Amino acid sequence: MRQYEKTGILSIKDLKIPSKKQFEKGVAILECVQEIPCNPCVDSCPVHAISMKDINAPPVNNFEKCIGCTKCVGVCPGLAIFVIKIKANTAWITLPYEFVTVPKVGDVVQALDRKGKVRGKALVKKVVKHGKTMVVTIEVNSSLAMSIRNIRV
Ligand code: SF4
Ligand code: SF4
Repeated sequence: MRQYEKTGILSIKDLKIPSKKQFEKGVAILECVQEIPCNPCVDSCPVHAISMKDINAPPVNNFEKCIGCTKCVGVCPGLAIFVIKIKANTAWITLPYEFVTVPKVGDVVQALDRKGKVRGKALVKKVVKHGKTMVVTIEVNSSLAMSIRNIRV
């Protein structure tokens, strides 16, 4: 049994990791590993980068095709998609956000890891409404790119 099946929390070891070049252009990380009948991410992608063997299979992102457009982030009912772009020491993480206090561009917020632990500060760079979900882009140190998955305003 994998660790996340006991804890409900994924770790980097459970994920497919893009190359440095792919991170530089920006790529979607699909933190979706359960076999559930769901596929809005597949339909949302303008370049058909996301695929599934069947409707119950976990989605797979083709990092070479992905253009980091972030369109898939707000459509995922599981809030499981994050777009990561890294250049030198800076990373931009686009994440789904559904709490009541919505951040504004320019805010400095707490950067939280998958367990909800505060790992540092993040600068809010962009906030876009997608239905009930806000799609928020934050800037953090690149060392945190694969750790930060939520924010606290
Ligand atoms: S970020 Fe854009 S291109 Fe990449 S998988 Fe999501 S929708 Fe497709
Ligand atoms: S939309 Fe989200 S929950 Fe549904 S298959 Fe895609 S990544 Fe998984």
